[in-house]
Amino acid sequence: MKMRLLDFGTLTADEGWVIEGSGVATRSEPKPISNRRNYQMIGALIEHPKNGLILYETGPAPNYRELWPEPVQEVFDITRYEEENRLDNQLKKAGYSVNDVSAIIIGHMHLDHAGGLEFFRGLDVPVYAHEDEIKNAFYAIATKQDFGAYIPHCIDSAFNWQAVYGDECELFDGITLYKTLGHTPGLLSMKAKLNDQDTFLFTSDTVFFKESWVDQKPPGWLVRDMPGWFKSLAKLKNIADREHAKVIFGHDPEVFAQYASKVHG
Ligand SMILES: [Zn+2]
Repeated sequence: MKMRLLDFGTLTADEGWVIEGSGVATRSEPKPISNRRNYQMIGALIEHPKNGLILYETGPAPNYRELWPEPVQEVFDITRYEEENRLDNQLKKAGYSVNDVSAIIIGHMHLDHAGGLEFFRGLDVPVYAHEDEIKNAFYAIATKQDFGAYIPHCIDSAFNWQAVYGDECELFDGITLYKTLGHTPGLLSMKAKLNDQDTFLFTSDTVFFKESWVDQKPPGWLVRDMPGWFKSLAKLKNIADREHAKVIFGHDPEVFAQYASKVHG
């Protein structure tokens, strides 16, 4: 089984979204300068010997400027999205087209992860997401309670949604999905065991950056379930330790750069 990372561009946003307490005003520093940092948008393409081409995460929609609400673009500014970062061109670079994809796994259904489903309109490819994530995303759109993180263009019943259930599921041989809490109610982290030496663990946005993993620094304003987040971190660390997995975080540009240049497996 082979795997390569896909580069869907970069968001630039306040660090306080992902690191608790970053930029907070204090007695000794009442007017701190907020630190903005780069968030790499990441996907993975797996060539599976039995199940064909599997895509994990789809990045933003190519026409995000029209689709993303203005306040979202103001806060989460896409500062790097060239022609080559479009999902179809990332697939092309790997020698494929959108028609070659046989299954899509969505880590969570926020606009920077599920937006690229636009490329698959009308193709009927199965789109796997956790039951709790599908329910939450459609509810968020219907009630407008979490509108902005979830937006209607990709939370659309026109896609061939397939629910994944429970806390753990080996969806295809060597590809195991884990429900991990913290950021959204049904986020799916993914373990891909490529061969006896190479196992990758994708946290998606349960863990945004390596420093949260190493120093147990919880996310900032993007955390929805803090006790759940600590449980998820422990669960993911246990998997990574036992299986000597290389861990790819939701938006870490340095870790991404370390593994992006080659085909693994
Ligand atoms: Zn994200």
